[in-house]
Amino acid sequence: MNVAMILKAKGRAVTTARPDATLLDVSAKLAAKKIGALVIVGEQGRVVGIISERDVIRAIGEKGAAALSAPVSEFMTRHVVSAQESQTIDEIMSTMTQGRFRHLPIIEDDALVGIISIGDVVKHHIAEVELEVSAMRGYLATG
Ligand code: AMP
Repeated sequence: MNVAMILKAKGRAVTTARPDATLLDVSAKLAAKKIGALVIVGEQGRVVGIISERDVIRAIGEKGAAALSAPVSEFMTRHVVSAQESQTIDEIMSTMTQGRFRHLPIIEDDALVGIISIGDVVKHHIAEVELEVSAMRGYLATG
């Protein structure tokens, strides 16, 4: 199973924000959409950063409530690690584990085409393992 198959099942919508949105705007969007991260896009939809709920908590922990009126560009991660549709679940699990993050924007030809969270990965990995177990059971029953 690869990223393209996961996107086919979950859809390609990505919730984004602009770098000058305030941390409060971003927090409201995260809460309203019930998601853990937003991709930050600049001119022509180019990915310029990512902000997750962890960054919001860190910003408030370090700067207090004043952080909420500051632009998200002050707190986002600028070096965004992304993946491509052809990559396998194993590959993106390893990218997330090594990078210690739970969100992976999918980029093809400089265009943002989807996002995969650790929740999507775990869900599809379990489905894959269950399929293998049921195939093995069938094989043993008929053998
Ligand atoms: P997360 O586990 O996704 O909540 O993110 C933990 C930290 O990693 C936060 O500082 C995020 O800004 C950062 N982060 C999340 N996803 C990525 C990514 N794909 N590339 C780079 N940094 C990321």
